[in-house]
Amino acid sequence: MNAAITFGPGDIRVESVQDPIPGVGEVLVKVEGCGICGSDYSAHKPGVKKLTKSKDPTIAGHEVAGTVVDSGKGVSGLPIGTKVAVSPNRPCGSCLTCHRGMSHLCQNRKPRVLEQGGGFAEHMSVFSEQCFPISADTSLLEAAVVEPLACCIHSTNRIHVQQGDDVVIIGAGFNAQIFVQLTRLKGARRVTVIDSISKRLTMASVHGADAVIDSSVTSPEQVISHFPRGADVVINTRGSMKFTKLAFDICAVGARILCYGVAPVGETIPIEPNMIFRKEIQLIGGRSFNNTFSAAVDLIASKRVQVDPLVTRTVNLERYSEIINSLSEGHIKTVVVPNQKTREKSRW
Ligand SMILES: [Zn+2]
Ligand SMILES: [Zn+2]
Repeated sequence: MNAAITFGPGDIRVESVQDPIPGVGEVLVKVEGCGICGSDYSAHKPGVKKLTKSKDPTIAGHEVAGTVVDSGKGVSGLPIGTKVAVSPNRPCGSCLTCHRGMSHLCQNRKPRVLEQGGGFAEHMSVFSEQCFPISADTSLLEAAVVEPLACCIHSTNRIHVQQGDDVVIIGAGFNAQIFVQLTRLKGARRVTVIDSISKRLTMASVHGADAVIDSSVTSPEQVISHFPRGADVVINTRGSMKFTKLAFDICAVGARILCYGVAPVGETIPIEPNMIFRKEIQLIGGRSFNNTFSAAVDLIASKRVQVDPLVTRTVNLERYSEIINSLSEGHIKTVVVPNQKTREKSRW
């Protein structure tokens, strides 16, 4: 099969490798869509410090949808031809973190060897329990974004959005667009999105943002003046220190701040603990997902959350290996379709 193999930061080559063979309890999935995550882009940014650095070549891609085409021994309930969204989480199940119900934060995840790597390849071999069948009405492109939707549901639950909350979302990428829809479903009275790319802000308005602020032409002081009462919930999908500071500056008494965007390792900002005490601010991290994958499958099937318009382009493996070194060019979500004939199809 063809796979986009990562040899190092900025060095991805499409090569022919051996087809993975499903082992005991595993199925072989023909990948028909694999979303590119913000973390996939940032892994290739020059000078980015990372917590772990794998020296071996890997196949990335954790937002996977496809069709079951083969299975190993001991698999039941997933007949050949089943269309599935694939959860990337492979917790060990036996560490303290797993035993305490936080398997999404497991530090001993079962490793993926190269031949059975991620979704930027024509096939991947996964445990059957990673596969969630999708409804007949769900497209494989929609199924390719079940994983980020599951992450957003997990985080939305953690910040306890309540009916009547004034919500601010910093950033207007895919996750931010999903947070617009989820916080509205939770009963937010107003949702405001802050970003510097006007095309993305327009998308947010179309999908439910009550107000948008273009941060490229609005100073932080002007942004703060939009919220005289302060925001009850601030969802920061951007990791930069500038926006983390803004989150504190615009939050109301009793506010919850979600740290969702991945901040650069080691960067810090000064905060005033007395303000956290005085205003009873809750600072909450949201990472990955825990038991929300099937809710994501269901919300897409019921069309209660619209994800199809957010997939703004599809690319093949070759094109993926090129664009990963550039910025997302304002696209909301790019999905890699390994066997797509054309290099790139825009869906804006
Ligand atoms: Zn991701
Ligand atoms: Zn574990």
